[in-house]
Amino acid sequence: MNGTRSIAVVGGGLTGLAAAHHLGELIEAKQLPIEVTLFEASSRVGGVFGTLHIDGHIVETGADSFITNKPWAADLCKRLGLEDQLISTNSEYQRSFILYEGRPVQTPDGFELLVPRKLRALLSSPFLSPQGKLDVANEAFVPPRTDEADESLADFTRRRFGQEMLDRIVQPMVGGIYTANPEHLSMQATLPRYVNMEREHGSLLRAVWQERTSSEQDGSGGEMDPPSGISGARYGLFASLKDGMSTLLDVLEQRVRSIARVELESPVLSVAPQSSGWYRVTTSGGEASTFDGLILALPAYRSGQLITEWDTSLAERLSQIPYASSAILVSAHNLSDIEHPLNAFGLVIPHQEKRKVLAVSFLSRKFKGRSPDGTIQLRTFIGGAMQPELFERDDASLIAMVREELRDILGVRGEPLFHHLARYERAMPQYHVGHLDLVADIERREAEHRGLALAGNAYRGVGVPDSVHSGEQAAARVFNELAIG
Ligand SMILES: Cc1cc2nc3c(=O)[nH]c(=O)nc-3n(C[C@H](O)[C@H](O)[C@H](O)COP(=O)(O)OP(=O)(O)OC[C@H]3O[C@@H](n4cnc5c(N)ncnc54)[C@H](O)[C@@H]3O)c2cc1C
Repeated sequence: MNGTRSIAVVGGGLTGLAAAHHLGELIEAKQLPIEVTLFEASSRVGGVFGTLHIDGHIVETGADSFITNKPWAADLCKRLGLEDQLISTNSEYQRSFILYEGRPVQTPDGFELLVPRKLRALLSSPFLSPQGKLDVANEAFVPPRTDEADESLADFTRRRFGQEMLDRIVQPMVGGIYTANPEHLSMQATLPRYVNMEREHGSLLRAVWQERTSSEQDGSGGEMDPPSGISGARYGLFASLKDGMSTLLDVLEQRVRSIARVELESPVLSVAPQSSGWYRVTTSGGEASTFDGLILALPAYRSGQLITEWDTSLAERLSQIPYASSAILVSAHNLSDIEHPLNAFGLVIPHQEKRKVLAVSFLSRKFKGRSPDGTIQLRTFIGGAMQPELFERDDASLIAMVREELRDILGVRGEPLFHHLARYERAMPQYHVGHLDLVADIERREAEHRGLALAGNAYRGVGVPDSVHSGEQAAARVFNELAIG
């Protein structure tokens, strides 16, 4: 490599920070003269997440935790020296509720997103009618689909377990994660594990039984079977940081600043390739600079807007990834003001219940040390793809609406100790049926532009670990392209 090279990272959310940080690691390891500049539109880095400290409460305004069976976020924490800060969920409250006919009912023991690992627990729960239970038990005899094409979560669940199981359990549990409409959500892009279970075993129930039998035979103790009393999402796999998620951002930002120029309040207006093989990056102040490599760590539609003048068809495909908007109202309360014992991590709400909130997470039950003794912190989710009209309400009306719902559903009385409303407009990408084909097409077109990488949660995973991974992969790709030529 002759002479100093330069790379621009556009977007200072978690993806952009992870990309810039990994560039620093690669530059140091290979001792190459490459300069990195990170452009962030707002006055702070971190994008859709951050932590506030209010009256002894640790308040997460966006993401509150991350899954650890995808290793990339936990690995990054370790590389940043934050291993001793990682905390796991509080086993005392490791269960969840689903609203059923207006009241919270515990999720059947062993239920995992889409599959009842303990069939008897589901069959003895009140969620399904006798016919609904029969439909679930019959899953073992439903022939597998032979067609390899993608399918929606709703079609998959209906086909295998019946409509009631979809409406009463799967829609709220999975919808809660993706803030999505199950009629559109792609099975292959979001839950490929269950597609494979059907392909390999012919049935999800039979897959679970076979896993159990072989683990009993090989003495592994039935690892696939959650311990009794554990239900809901796989909470045992979730981690956070002792003083809040923004510890990760703060340390990451410090490291990034030691290897890169960080330009805050610098929204990029356009990027354009030059005949010399450079990218010209123009910010809102009208300033333009050129770079050898370019990482766009932005929501897909924003990346599309930046490149629309020089690759219309790539821009058009990027705009085809839809997004949902949601809001989170964090509120803190004295436990004595709440009738429900809140002895769980949270509550999800089926669309069928016709309520005005999607889910309520009991944050200070999920992680110890989030709120002072005798108080509790609730995070109530509103909007998403199923109720976009509620996101449009003004702040006062949203807050009044949530308070009314919390009173009705959980018996939350009196004034909260405080509340904080965070709005996330078009922040949650929706992986619709056919998403993986669309992404493969985007990646093919992206590869035609040497030195360009698209990164973020729009493509191959929506969570914190996916964002880290996407940023790091983009960094490695652009770095390697520059390093070899
Ligand atoms: C409400 C909510 C709750 C979530 N909870 C969880 C959770 O509990 N666990 C989990 O694993 N995941 C969760 N996620 C997902 C996770 O937080 C995201 O996947 C991740 O933070 C996305 O980071 P990002 O950097 O890709 O995007 P963003 O955070 O959107 O960052 C993009 C950045 O680019 C900047 N930008 C935009 N346009 C420009 C421009 N033209 N020029 C320069 N900069 C620009 C923006 O200001 C922003 O800082 C949640 C997401 C949301 C919205």
